[in-house]
Amino acid sequence: MQPIYLPQLLKAPNQSEHLEINQLIEGLETLTPVRGELLVTHQGNYLEVSGTVETITTLVCHRCLQHYNHRLKVEKTELIWLNAAESEFPDSGEKELLGDEGTETLAPDGYFEPDLWVYEQLSLELPLQQICGENCPGIVQPQQTEDPKIDSRWAGLEALKQQIMNHEQ
Ligand SMILES: [Zn+2]
Repeated sequence: MQPIYLPQLLKAPNQSEHLEINQLIEGLETLTPVRGELLVTHQGNYLEVSGTVETITTLVCHRCLQHYNHRLKVEKTELIWLNAAESEFPDSGEKELLGDEGTETLAPDGYFEPDLWVYEQLSLELPLQQICGENCPGIVQPQQTEDPKIDSRWAGLEALKQQIMNHEQ
C-alpha cells in the first residue's frame, strides 16, 4: 500500500481516502493475505483511521511447540494527532518533553503508512498465551535418561569418563 501524504489528503474529496486491503503484510506470519478496508480521514488537527482487517496467522504453541492457525480480526477507529512539533524538531528529543506516551502523533506534513498501521493493530491482537487448542498434547518432555540423577548435559562427560576408565584397565 502506498503511504498517504497528509497535505495531499487534505485536497482529496471529503479529506479522506478509502483503501481496500488484500495483501501480505511484511513481518507478519500469515497463512492468508490480510483482507479488509481502511478509511483515513483528515480532520484538521488529527487523523481519523477506521479499519476492519482480518487474517489467519501461523503461531507456535507455547506448550507443545506445534504450529497452529489462529484467526485475527481487528475493528478499530484510532485518532492520530497531527503535531507540528514533530516536523519542526525531528531529532531534538523534544518529543519526550511533550509527554503523553502511547498517544500516536504524526507530522502534519508527513505520511500515514497503512501497512504499518495494519501491522501494529494485528500484532496487538496476538494472544499472549499461545495454546494450539483444547486437544493440545501438552508440554513435550525431554527424553529421560536411565539414571535421573545424571543431568543430560553431563551424560556425554559420564560416557567419556567410562571410556577412559575402561582404557586404563
Ligand atoms: Zn499445543
